[in-house]
Amino acid sequence: MPELPEVETVRRSLETQCVGSVVLDAQLNCPGLRWPFQDDFLQRLEGCRISKLDRRGKYLLVHLEGGDALIVHLGMSGTITIFDDGPGQLRPHDHVVITMEDGRLLIYNDPRRFGSMEIVSAGDLESHRVIGRLGPEPVAADFDAFVLATALQGRRCSIKSALLNQHVVAGVGNIYACEALHRARISPRVLAGSLATSSGKPTPRCRRLAPAIKSILLSAIAAGGSTLKDFAAPDGAVGAYPSSFRVYGRDGLRCRRSGCSGVIRIFTQQGRSTFACPRCQRS
Ligand SMILES: [Zn+2]
Repeated sequence: MPELPEVETVRRSLETQCVGSVVLDAQLNCPGLRWPFQDDFLQRLEGCRISKLDRRGKYLLVHLEGGDALIVHLGMSGTITIFDDGPGQLRPHDHVVITMEDGRLLIYNDPRRFGSMEIVSAGDLESHRVIGRLGPEPVAADFDAFVLATALQGRRCSIKSALLNQHVVAGVGNIYACEALHRARISPRVLAGSLATSSGKPTPRCRRLAPAIKSILLSAIAAGGSTLKDFAAPDGAVGAYPSSFRVYGRDGLRCRRSGCSGVIRIFTQQGRSTFACPRCQRS
């Protein structure tokens, strides 16, 4: 499932290739993705020039001249590919086909159809039922231990579950949550609220975790994301980050922390696989 670095990789690619381009027309090949397409979806999209590409958490925000914004979530398996002159024949699961004025096609493909597309007035984004409730942006310049402590204060779940909660921190998913907790030497099982003092200040663990989250996400963005089975950038580039994983997918292998002789273990938390080193992530 694409997490923040993968969505940011898509955003950068689309920004380079699509800003300034005009949507000539769009074709919907199914009634909806996770939710039905809006009745006026095509009407609001066609003829519009793409003015800006933003991202919030795992959501792409495609700003259109005229004041609307297309919110795109890639779900579990969504990909956006740009074809210079069409793919020839449409592939299975090519659900949205957008033709640009210059003849290029932008195709949204999603076998599992857990993604979503919605057009809203850009002025309503901050109060949007999903976008408006997202937690702080972990790669923003002002994200630090104090921001994280405020988000974690009083949370009665495990720190791993809290990091997956998009209202706590936007954009972190299973892979980068596991990696950040390992980097910060924190057990995935500790109580999330224990990383903040009773007055909401960061504890030492929180002071390690906030920079770990940020640096892991920035490194993954710099590497072009992580290409697992369902992700590739719009230009087909593959992400190089998985070679840097220290715990994710490494159960049974030696911990990569220098001086640690632990062996990475896998266990389940709230239905998701957690990878951690029982030796250097003890508390
Ligand atoms: Zn270790």
